[in-house]
Amino acid sequence: MAMIGGSKRGVGHREIRIGEAVLRRQLRRREMAAATVGAGRCRLSKVGAVRRPPPARVRVAVRLRPFVDGTSGANDTPCVRGLDSYSLEIANWRNHQETLKYQFDAFYGERSSQQDIYAGSVQPILRHLLEGQNASVLAYGPTGAGKTHTMLGSPEQPGVIPRALMDLLQLTREEGAEGRPWALSVTMSYLEIYQEKVLDLLNPASGDLVIREDCRGNILIPGLTQKPITSFADFEQHFLPASRNRTVGPTRLNQRSSRSHAVLLVKVDQRERLAPFRQREGKLYLIDLAGSEDNRRTGNKGLRLKESGAINSSLFVLGKVVDALNQGLPRVPYRDSKLTRLLQDSLGGSAHSILIANIAPERCFYLDTVSALNFAARSKEVINRPFTNESLQLHVLAPVKLSQKELVGPPEAKKARGPEEEEIGNPEPLEPPASASQKFSSLQKLSSMDPAMLERLLSLDRLLGSRGTQGTPLLSTPKRERMVLMKTVEEKDLEIERLKLKQKELEAKVRAQETVDPKEKENCSPTMLRPLARRTVTVAKPLKKAVVIPLQLIQEQAESPNANIHILKKKSRKRKLEGLDATESKDKAEDCWELQISPELLAHGRQKILDMLNEGSARDLRSLQRIGQKKAQLIVGCRELHGPFSQVEDLERVKVMSGKQLESFLKANILGLAANILGLAAGQYGSPS
Ligand code: ADP
Ligand code: MG
Repeated sequence: MAMIGGSKRGVGHREIRIGEAVLRRQLRRREMAAATVGAGRCRLSKVGAVRRPPPARVRVAVRLRPFVDGTSGANDTPCVRGLDSYSLEIANWRNHQETLKYQFDAFYGERSSQQDIYAGSVQPILRHLLEGQNASVLAYGPTGAGKTHTMLGSPEQPGVIPRALMDLLQLTREEGAEGRPWALSVTMSYLEIYQEKVLDLLNPASGDLVIREDCRGNILIPGLTQKPITSFADFEQHFLPASRNRTVGPTRLNQRSSRSHAVLLVKVDQRERLAPFRQREGKLYLIDLAGSEDNRRTGNKGLRLKESGAINSSLFVLGKVVDALNQGLPRVPYRDSKLTRLLQDSLGGSAHSILIANIAPERCFYLDTVSALNFAARSKEVINRPFTNESLQLHVLAPVKLSQKELVGPPEAKKARGPEEEEIGNPEPLEPPASASQKFSSLQKLSSMDPAMLERLLSLDRLLGSRGTQGTPLLSTPKRERMVLMKTVEEKDLEIERLKLKQKELEAKVRAQETVDPKEKENCSPTMLRPLARRTVTVAKPLKKAVVIPLQLIQEQAESPNANIHILKKKSRKRKLEGLDATESKDKAEDCWELQISPELLAHGRQKILDMLNEGSARDLRSLQRIGQKKAQLIVGCRELHGPFSQVEDLERVKVMSGKQLESFLKANILGLAANILGLAAGQYGSPS
């Protein structure tokens, strides 16, 4: 036929030529948008500062059904034909001399079997469910193009749903067998979205259900029936009667046209049999979408027309979602329809997704076919980021807590330590952590913590473990650090007290000498007396308090073998002092004090800040000087996009702050840190200029 073959120009062909470059550009653009948008949500600091999960593009397969008896145009020549197992061409309705060529991840021609589609496109993603990741299979296309045939099939030609269930149940039986590390269980739910209502097909009486999103971004439907299934017979027992509850109706194109989107949800739960008793959940959505309908052809009236309006509008929103994702728009209109809200996981979300676009060969389907192919071509550029959905079985914390008590000692000993010590915990482990369960037990006091936070900490802990981090488990590190710092501060306070006393003694001595022999005053050793007399005088900046640190303290700090941080040093420098004569000015200049940060402290401070940049949540980051909400979000966004910062200067490189801002940011934070370490609270001792 003249419409097929001919020129190589056309939408699909253009796409093939520039596909890769466009894809890369779009991916970059989307990542940038995701970084700024996602930063606002900041839910991950999910696994702390870990990189974003790797991308997995939505896979798209196209299936062309054969001519079927009873359809108008059954004796026509097909208006679409396959070129190879990836591409096809269709006549160009704008120019009959041309064809439009499309390339997908797979193309299944009219002779392809149910097994071909299942084995080629669906079976490979099932294994992800056992890794605790989500997967989705969506059948898309116009009414009568074979979506239900592909998904459900018939007893003679079973489709994707029965085949996937059969394999999945077999896989879970093998993986969850006694003696294997994980125990597995499978549940199923079945719902339809009919005229924007979510109806439970396993319990039709339950009415319209709501779709919600949990704190980790998972989409869920509270109240939806979940039936445990262990065998295919179990599945059939629930599925077959529920399928009869699905709303179907006759249209001119299909006698049993699906009037709703049908969603079969299969959850695979995994529980680790040994410590640390992790728990994983993988969700599989098998979705038979209602077809888009041209009401002039379907002859829809009344209820059918209303249904068709709901179907078309939700498919329209689906198209908008795909476009928004492809263009990296900041707002993706998932909430504009129930269907897209439910598919939030599967499109641009965390699932391994495959879209099977069903098309028909008849010429009367031509426009629907072109629009389905265009939608499929746009969908193949949607990027998902699947990640493992892992958490802790919180109910197993209690028994392990007991064993922690046993480790710590008898209850009397605990009572003797008092409640505060119990709260803070022992900074030193009583015994070196020997097993995973023992390491895990350091978390027990955190069992009252927000589970999402606990999970994040655990994931970090595991990550460090898997990278071979030696020593203290992450979770006890802040406590340990705090204890060490508190101890240092305490020691410094004592030292200051001691020196103050000494200073008072010396001042008394001087006063005594002055009264005895005023002449002797001039001959007196300057190293002892002059600094004491002037130390309380504000010299350079009258508005600010001078830092009052006895010279001896500084000398002792320098001499002390244990003092590895010296932050204060006397510095002679000349300053312009208005209103003072030259001699006075010189005199004052000698007494200027300047805060100098030792290289060790500088390095220590920079490392602390870097750690905070790489591990802190947006909230933590805001505790840093000069970091407001916007900058904190930007930092988290950049971190998720580019991975951890290797040095603090990266902040300038990724344009979070200018060079000047970076300088004052470093200065303010390192000074703050230094003051904290020495217990020099600004309010207590005056702030250094
Ligand atoms: P949809 O769900 O897209 O509206 P159906 O799956 O109900 O379409 O298919 C419409 C008709 O076409 C049905 O009678 C179905 O058996 C038949 N059909 C669809 N695809 C195929 C195929 N690949 N091989 C044989 N018959 C098919
Ligand atoms: Mg159907």
